[in-house]
Amino acid sequence: MQLNYIANASQPSSSGLTIAVVDPSDGQTYDQIQRSNAADIDVAVGAARQCLEAVWRKLGGAERGRLLMRLSLKISERVDELAAIEQRDCGKPTKQARADAVALARYFEFYAGACDKLHGETIPYLDGYSVLTWREPHGVTGHIIPWNYPMQIFGRSVGGALAAGNVCVIKPAEDACLSLIRVAQLAAEVGFPAGAINIVTGYGHEVGDALARHPGIDHISFTGSPPVGTLIQQVAAVRHCPVTLELGGKSPQVVFADADLDAAIPAIISAIVQNAGQTCSAGSRLLVDQAIYEPLLERLGEAFEKLRVGPAAMDLDLGPLIRQSQQQRVWDFLSDAQVANIRMVAHGKVVDEAPESGFYQAPTLLRDVPPMHRLAQEEVFGPVLCAMSFRDEDHAVELANATHFGLVAGVWTADGARQFRMARRIRSGQVFINNYGAGGGVELPFGGVKSSGYGREKGLEALHGFTTLKTVAFKHG
Ligand code: NAP
Ligand code: MG
Repeated sequence: MQLNYIANASQPSSSGLTIAVVDPSDGQTYDQIQRSNAADIDVAVGAARQCLEAVWRKLGGAERGRLLMRLSLKISERVDELAAIEQRDCGKPTKQARADAVALARYFEFYAGACDKLHGETIPYLDGYSVLTWREPHGVTGHIIPWNYPMQIFGRSVGGALAAGNVCVIKPAEDACLSLIRVAQLAAEVGFPAGAINIVTGYGHEVGDALARHPGIDHISFTGSPPVGTLIQQVAAVRHCPVTLELGGKSPQVVFADADLDAAIPAIISAIVQNAGQTCSAGSRLLVDQAIYEPLLERLGEAFEKLRVGPAAMDLDLGPLIRQSQQQRVWDFLSDAQVANIRMVAHGKVVDEAPESGFYQAPTLLRDVPPMHRLAQEEVFGPVLCAMSFRDEDHAVELANATHFGLVAGVWTADGARQFRMARRIRSGQVFINNYGAGGGVELPFGGVKSSGYGREKGLEALHGFTTLKTVAFKHG
């Protein structure tokens, strides 16, 4: 039985209720988490506030940095343990689960170094005045985290918030709580004061909503779907609580005829099969110069047929999807494709060892997807790549920008001037030229435009979002 972790102590929910923890590889329940409620959030926010006022505010940046660094080192020692927890809870192949734990350690390392380097400015002003600015923490921050990359999103969101001097109340997705409960325990072991990191589990519409509404929360960092992002914004608007929204994407990979296809093909595949396509930054639309459309699809088709899906512990190209309803969601999209006569180029294979009761989906490549069809517009959040062709650069830009989203774009071309033009003309938070994702470096600010959200996490830029700027003007004559 998993308990909440509040003020460095394991605590049951006052509801007395629990939620089953299911292994996506076989669909079996193997543990329980707390189904927490507004009263539990109230306790966690109280613990966080107490920590902020009594301890956390008084620590210097260097001291905070040392704590974050100790947690980073502890996580590095425990990569195997954390990866094993995540693998079972979320169905991640070993390589992915380990990569997430390593990234979590790296976030805390990066933000550890930033703690004592966050400063304001002095501003030249009228004679007789001195003006300066202070970057102050918001205070008690709320973090609502999705199930697809719990450790990485915790790292960037909670790591940044702590570095900026905030304390945190965290609501993980009900499908992905176990690794984060463990990380909070490790934080206590390395000396984080009680109340700095509090984990409260449960359903989004219950405990997530209670967190967003709580008057003691000074900032909300939400990563998840656009519709829930809207709800969070509405709830927060009532008390004018600032919000950072990291929402979804329908990101294009744009391939011109002069592209280095040997480099592009593996990147295109990995951008849609990573984490079984359950990635906000998945490259889910493939826009191809008509001159190379057929040969590229042929090569991609051959590669898709070699992709293997199976239980997380087999560490294949893809593991299962997170839960049955997610599998059903992907099936619904694929049956819509059939109804619309959208042709399939190729698909991968679910291995024979995969239990019937697991939530598997073969990666699928579709072609000539009409740009306005929901397959080309909405997030499938599964391993489905939608290909379409373009005539020229203007047409490529038009298609790349033709969704409500604007999170990531990849552009493949050898033409230097076109690289710059495309980077300028595509509306998205990140553009990658001749690569996709740049290895996901924690240094690189990340976030969206349009329905992909606003605010930036990762990098030093995130610290602006986790602080508020105070201007102080002295009149001294
Ligand atoms: P989701 O359904 O929006 O859930 C996200 C989080 O919000 C979960 O913790 C969820 O809790 C909680 N939640 C649900 N309803 C809520 C409510 N009424 N009030 C407060 N909290 C609520 O998204 P998801 O299905 O977990 O994740 C997939 C989505 O996240 C995709 O759209 C993906 O693109 C996006 N995402 C974006 C980024 C990014 O950086 N831009 C990164 C990763 C994922 P429960 O699940 O426990 O109900
Ligand atoms: Mg699970």
